[in-house]
Amino acid sequence: MLEVFNTLTREKEPFKSIEPGKVRMYVCGPTVYNYIHIGNARSAVAFDTIRRYLEFSGYQVDYISNFTDIGEKLARTATAEKTTVAAVAAKYIAAVNEDSAALNIEPATYHPRATENIKEIIDLVTNLVEQGMAYEVAGDVYFRAKKFPEYGKLSHQPLSELEVGASQRTNSEETARKEDPIDFALWKAAKPGEVFWESPWGPGSPGWHVECSVMAIKYLGKTIDIHGGGEDLTFPHHENEIAQSETFTGQKFANYWLHNGFVTVGTDDEKMSKSLGNFVTAHEALSQFDPQAIRFFMAATHYRRPLRYTEAGLDDALAEIQRFKIARANLLYRRKDAVAGNDVAIDGQRHLFVDQFKTAFDDDFNVQNGLAVIHEYVRFMNKYALNPEIKLDTLMALVQQLDQFVEIYGVDLSQTVGLDAEVADLIVKRNAARAAKDYQTSDEIRDQLTAAGIILEDTAQGTRWRRA
Ligand SMILES: [Zn+2]
Repeated sequence: MLEVFNTLTREKEPFKSIEPGKVRMYVCGPTVYNYIHIGNARSAVAFDTIRRYLEFSGYQVDYISNFTDIGEKLARTATAEKTTVAAVAAKYIAAVNEDSAALNIEPATYHPRATENIKEIIDLVTNLVEQGMAYEVAGDVYFRAKKFPEYGKLSHQPLSELEVGASQRTNSEETARKEDPIDFALWKAAKPGEVFWESPWGPGSPGWHVECSVMAIKYLGKTIDIHGGGEDLTFPHHENEIAQSETFTGQKFANYWLHNGFVTVGTDDEKMSKSLGNFVTAHEALSQFDPQAIRFFMAATHYRRPLRYTEAGLDDALAEIQRFKIARANLLYRRKDAVAGNDVAIDGQRHLFVDQFKTAFDDDFNVQNGLAVIHEYVRFMNKYALNPEIKLDTLMALVQQLDQFVEIYGVDLSQTVGLDAEVADLIVKRNAARAAKDYQTSDEIRDQLTAAGIILEDTAQGTRWRRA
């Protein structure tokens, strides 16, 4: 049974979806004013990995992730790039899509944009004003946070501390307008030259928090199963989403709140963010390293833990993918002499690996323990590849099983990126020669590879190779 750590209760809880066999999941997407940084990519990879495991477990997943395509940040980029807000949004949405494809992140069921949902946003804000939970001041509309009895339930902090945090986030002009510093904006009056929509409170545009409430409710329903995002979104963003949504619908907004950890860089594990100026964009990273290695590196760290972004980590991830590919290739090489049929004992052992893998992932998506199972499984495959007699159905089932395990980490082993196909082919031939005790051939192949600058290392986990 799957258990997930719920930020709302700070406990691991059994996961039970609202509708059997179906998961409704919302993950906060990026504000599209620049290339996404590694931290955004990590969040997208973490929740894509979770989604893939839910699908592996038999759930149909409705996955919604938004694009924030309006706001001050886009306006600033538009001025800097001498273009329009719409052009900025189009450019960076295309870039996010390109980076996501390179990282093998499955497209969401739908990627709604804030600008497509203005009518629904105005309807929600109108309702909150009518309920007396929100008020208009000089064309802005604010939510009366303290009137929502459970305000702070997600962040687990006393109101006094949240007040300090909230006042640090807004400018003094806005604070002066609000009844209470902790109130947050649902609608902002348009400043001269800004993109705006007509509303009951005059020309303006939505606050950031309200768009996620509207899109989650519109595309997934009043109560959703999982709401995800980076841990820095817990307060105020997610706290405010809960207050608005639950006031609007009168129902619980999300049953499980999942938050991914930060990405750290450098020796002091400083949080990576654009404001610190130490960020690496996903675009830069993808042009410098094997995209599959970046994906695997990110997916193989538990989502709640900080991810230490280092080149050594990426190199290790690449070497690991190569070990999987070689194990796969070694076994597929035996297809030519495999006999028809199925080896029941081997198949039974394969199922035990699947059970162990599920046990690992059912514990709040424990990717590290899942990986330990895959390592054992690869040793098992390598051993079977040396069997004098190979059964074809078993061979194919073993290969497909490996593919399925690593697909949850977003790795596609049929791709040859990062492994020179010719080198892999020669390693497979050499291993086959060694298995047949044809040491003359195996030595010849090693010499051939050495001459080509490829160093081979035979380990218990199979043959590794690196460039000299
Ligand atoms: Zn959001």
